[in-house]
Amino acid sequence: MTRYVYAFDEPSDGGRDLLGGKGIGLAEMTQLGIPVPAGFTITTDACRAFMRSGGFPDGLGEEIEEQIARLEAKAGKDFGDPSDPLLVSVRSGAAISMPGMMDTILNVGLNDDAVRGLAEATGNPAFAYDCYRRLIQMFGETVDGIEPGHFKDDPTNPERTVETFKNVYRRETGEEFPQDAREQLRRAVVAVFESWNTPRAHVYRQTYGIPDDLGTAVNVVQMVFGNKGERSATGVCFTRDPSTGEQGVYGEYLVNAQGEDVVAGIRTPQPVEEMAERLPDAYAQLLETMARLEQHYRDMQDIEFTVEEGHLYLLQTRSAKRTAAAALKAAVDMTSEGLINREEAIARIDPSQLDQLLHPMLDPKAEFEVAARGLNASPGAASGKIVLDADTAAERGKSGEAVILVRWETTPDDIHGLIQSRGVLTAHGGMTSHAAVVARGMGKPCVAGCEGLQIDVDAKEVRLGEHRLHEGDVITIDGGTGRVIVGEVQLVPPQINEDFETVLAWADELRRLRVWANADNPEDAAKAREFGAQGIGLCRTEHMFFGDERLPVVQEMILAADEAGRREALDRLLPFQQADFEGIFEAMAGLPVVIRLLDPPLHEFLPPLEEATDERMRSRIKALTEANPMLGTRGCRLGIQWPEIYEMQVRAIARAAKAVPGTQVEIMHPLVGFAEELRRLRELTERVMEEEAPEIEYTCGTMIELPRAALRADEIAEHADFFSFGTNDLTQTTLGMSRDDAEGKFLTFYLEDGVIERNPFETLDQAGVGELMRIAVERGRRTKKNIKLGICGEHGGDPKSVEFCHGLGLDYVSCSPYRVPLARLAAAQAVLKEAHRAEYVAAGG
Ligand code: PEP
Ligand code: MG
Repeated sequence: MTRYVYAFDEPSDGGRDLLGGKGIGLAEMTQLGIPVPAGFTITTDACRAFMRSGGFPDGLGEEIEEQIARLEAKAGKDFGDPSDPLLVSVRSGAAISMPGMMDTILNVGLNDDAVRGLAEATGNPAFAYDCYRRLIQMFGETVDGIEPGHFKDDPTNPERTVETFKNVYRRETGEEFPQDAREQLRRAVVAVFESWNTPRAHVYRQTYGIPDDLGTAVNVVQMVFGNKGERSATGVCFTRDPSTGEQGVYGEYLVNAQGEDVVAGIRTPQPVEEMAERLPDAYAQLLETMARLEQHYRDMQDIEFTVEEGHLYLLQTRSAKRTAAAALKAAVDMTSEGLINREEAIARIDPSQLDQLLHPMLDPKAEFEVAARGLNASPGAASGKIVLDADTAAERGKSGEAVILVRWETTPDDIHGLIQSRGVLTAHGGMTSHAAVVARGMGKPCVAGCEGLQIDVDAKEVRLGEHRLHEGDVITIDGGTGRVIVGEVQLVPPQINEDFETVLAWADELRRLRVWANADNPEDAAKAREFGAQGIGLCRTEHMFFGDERLPVVQEMILAADEAGRREALDRLLPFQQADFEGIFEAMAGLPVVIRLLDPPLHEFLPPLEEATDERMRSRIKALTEANPMLGTRGCRLGIQWPEIYEMQVRAIARAAKAVPGTQVEIMHPLVGFAEELRRLRELTERVMEEEAPEIEYTCGTMIELPRAALRADEIAEHADFFSFGTNDLTQTTLGMSRDDAEGKFLTFYLEDGVIERNPFETLDQAGVGELMRIAVERGRRTKKNIKLGICGEHGGDPKSVEFCHGLGLDYVSCSPYRVPLARLAAAQAVLKEAHRAEYVAAGG
């Protein structure tokens, strides 16, 4: 029969998947001899069985009973004993950490008699009643779903608070607060199982791609009390600074409090260093234990501890959630400390997190007045309109508005609002408050504990230092420094620092895929090179047809009555194109540049019908208007029908390449579906290149962005030196979904409702689009063994898709300049994963 419960000191084979992150941490710490309260873990197997049947699986009740008996023997106290009861906490703990998402209930086992027993046994009635009121509140909220607002604490009189809370419980549930310890325990365990399926947990899992069917473990832990007076405390602490990665203890604690007070940000805690004076022995032991844990896990740890009358207990250890800057610094430092090697350092960093460092910061040259300051809880800067509740933030953020969620503090129920906000500002709470932890995980700016902030939710008004503001007014927050500013401040792109460079240099040594960038102007090309791009994989040329000087000429070309008229206009466009290409070639200084010839349908360059200035224009617009332009006269279909357009472009490329010696140019034709299209276009390309610059070497290839092109890649390869997968269009055409009509509409529903797991426009649909790519690679290579292969759709900058492209054996990925660092790292991780040389450990896992 399946075993469902393990004590912390009992070995089990299931590891993290079976015991959850908290459970495995408690078991390992117990086995290392670190002071941990006694207890046991109910496995994720039990949770899954519960979710299937809706009840406890056979044998679970008995196993819990046995473990309670063991716990009683160890503690020398009985569960439910009215004189000096054994109390336990019941805590969730999934395999992948989901901070604050699920439920915890403390002080289980107390009742009207036992609270008096506890008061007597400890000589501390205030403490005993404080424990009992917490139990009633947590149990009421978690097990019975009572709204938190109903429980109003009177800290001066815990005994009266207990009576009030029991009345609230009775009023809200129609029943007395349960007095039987075993009933409390059973219902608490069920509530934790069920908390796996709360809406907020579901949203969190969706955001982080955590499967819905894992379930949570439940830890039943003997209570230790941080609320027993001035020699007791509770805290949360990191072995390195989770914002910067700087070494040294970093954390917060509260005297005379229980754990939830720190995490929930209800009281603003003290820096943990202050413990050195107040509780010197416990502090020394804490430092020593943290050092040991970091050595043991070879990673930065995030711990929870309690001091009960001077004795230290660890309640949790886990790999710490950290900002990208901290992840890089810690990885580089740990490598030089000899704790990990370079491959592990590379494997430790989540590439999608690097985005954080590549986000804008306040322009150092901007002038502004700081209206208020708070804690620099999560770096980056953002401007947006003040929104005071999570629902509004979610709604307005989703519709594309820049909003900043401004709250007294946030709770796990605000998660949907946080996801859609540019940043979060709280009046209360510390660096380990919910807002701070979640924002860091998401890479959003957060300023927490901002004392100059007062919020009047009913009046929808905010006081920020001297300023009185309203919901909808714009503010700027700088999570790197804690500054809050009224109005919008100019933001600037960030720079790559030394740790970032170091890790990327290690990644470069390891990766096989080359990383190129999509850029179509010299500034982007320069940025791409600065971030380490080894070429330009996609230079789109359509923007070169816009601009005040050019558009009238382009329109003239489109409206011309015949080819001669078109050529005349094109001749005037040529110098503009040539100058654009020269700028890019210069910026790339001899690295390869793939130029893609004109792709969009011509009507995009004409105004809407109502704005036509004469009859000819009107009839031309009508003639060019299409029911479905995405599948209309675009891409190489333009070049086949009006070859003079592509001729002009090739001529401009040739002249620019001549003007910038050493240029490596590759000419790419879009939306090819038939080999004959490319045969003709290659002929055109060769003819014009020969006329203009016979001495210039170049290659000529095609995008693969239609299913037919993938399927007939063997024929198309006859005429191509390279293929570049245009997975934006290939996804649209394979799935029969137009991106603009899908996102925010049915695709969003599909994702929320679990029809599909990921947005195929962000992460490659490997089973569908990926399969066509595999076919194209195989058939293309069959015709031309050394055909060069790359990808230039958005997916080229998505870590999972990069890994897939590595597996397909592509030569390069090309992505937006800001994603180049991420792709470099992802390409190196793909090598490690393929060789199983380093297991990828997501920070906070
Ligand atoms: C593509 O389709 O993937 C591509 C890169 O081209 P565009 O996005 O310009 O259509
Ligand atoms: Mg395309």
